[in-house]
Amino acid sequence: MLAFVLLALPSVGLSDDRTVIHPGFNLFSPQQDIELGKKASTQVPRQFAILNNKRVDQYLQRLGTRLAAHAPGYKYPYQYRCIDSETINAFALPGGFVYINRGVIENADNEAQLAAVMAHETAHVALRHGTSQATKAYAAEAGLNIVGALIGGNTATSLMAQLLGGVGVPIAFLKMSRTDESQADILGAQILHDAGYDPQAMADFYEKLGNLPQPAEFFSDHPSPEHRIERIDQEVDRLNGAPANATHDSREFKAIKRYVKSLPPPPSKPVGPVADVDAGGPAIPSTEYASFTNGEFTLAYPDNWKSQAQYGGASFAPERGVINDAQGNAAMAYGVIVSVFAPQDISGNTPTLEQANKELIASLEQSNPKLSVMRAAESTTLGGQPALSTYLQADSPAGGAEAEWLVTTLRPNGLFYIICIAPQKNYDAYGSAFRAVIHSVRFPN
Ligand SMILES: [Zn+2]
Repeated sequence: MLAFVLLALPSVGLSDDRTVIHPGFNLFSPQQDIELGKKASTQVPRQFAILNNKRVDQYLQRLGTRLAAHAPGYKYPYQYRCIDSETINAFALPGGFVYINRGVIENADNEAQLAAVMAHETAHVALRHGTSQATKAYAAEAGLNIVGALIGGNTATSLMAQLLGGVGVPIAFLKMSRTDESQADILGAQILHDAGYDPQAMADFYEKLGNLPQPAEFFSDHPSPEHRIERIDQEVDRLNGAPANATHDSREFKAIKRYVKSLPPPPSKPVGPVADVDAGGPAIPSTEYASFTNGEFTLAYPDNWKSQAQYGGASFAPERGVINDAQGNAAMAYGVIVSVFAPQDISGNTPTLEQANKELIASLEQSNPKLSVMRAAESTTLGGQPALSTYLQADSPAGGAEAEWLVTTLRPNGLFYIICIAPQKNYDAYGSAFRAVIHSVRFPN
């Protein structure tokens, strides 16, 4: 029966033993991928230097279109642009917006190696990794029962509003998982093969990058590319090697590489995912973390923030995260405050978590009359203990509304609490950092 079923299928794709990749769970539609990618692409020039060179972009577009024709799934309007950075990196936004650093062109030995990086990014788009990551981030929050007023309801539409509402390219679109990277390598090798290139070029380029004195940014999440090379080699075997008359190089690539190398050097200001969220505002949170402990608790915080120990607690904020409010007092506009609150023992009984949480919020309201509860307390955990999560809103010292995410748990010395603070309009850029801080909290036994 099996043989019959196989024979009944069209022969295409059966001529080799290629790995079949199934896209991950995704709340969004392909049309929403395009809408999200288009909006995020308008934010790219804020965070990255765009080369804006017609000759280079037209070449990348021709090469990309040749690859995209062999990308499975939804036919996105793929668009390829060059970023003016000498670091070897590339990224793709949902819906087909692909960006290649000039450093990739300058370091590729031949067209097939450049095509390999572009095929990898094209695969991220085809497999819808950006919106799949956003879906996963949403699911993680939903699992914690913290789907609050800040992120709206539980539909893709309100999630889109959240993703579109922030300033900057959503982190979910820039940070892929290890599995995503591996899938993009495998599908990328297949796309490369089907577009008439030797898929081995991908492994060759990775090997070259692995031998550079400075590890390439392309591998920032994967310090050792050996495993990836091994998996690509395996896929090349499954594809039965290079297609007949495979393209390795082109005269056009050689000319473009020479041309790009002749262009003025990129702006010296380092560009990358860490960039100003808005003029004068702090840099967006790093995705690398530093750790803090004072014996009472430990947590991790973005390593571009500064920690400051305070009695029983600590504060964590980026540079320019603490600003002067209208009264000239230093106030945190962006960051995290950790402290312990001593509930009043009115009844003579030890207060419950709910009572202590209510009392803390009342005391916060006293010092800040504009404070309001956006979404009532919901059960969660903090450091493995029962905890409450509450969303608050206040006036931001930076102007406009401020979103505050409060998480509390009872400790022997009182109510341990964390408040994550950001202006409402920038909350999207801080959400994943806040979640990481909250999830990292541990208490000694
Ligand atoms: Zn990738």
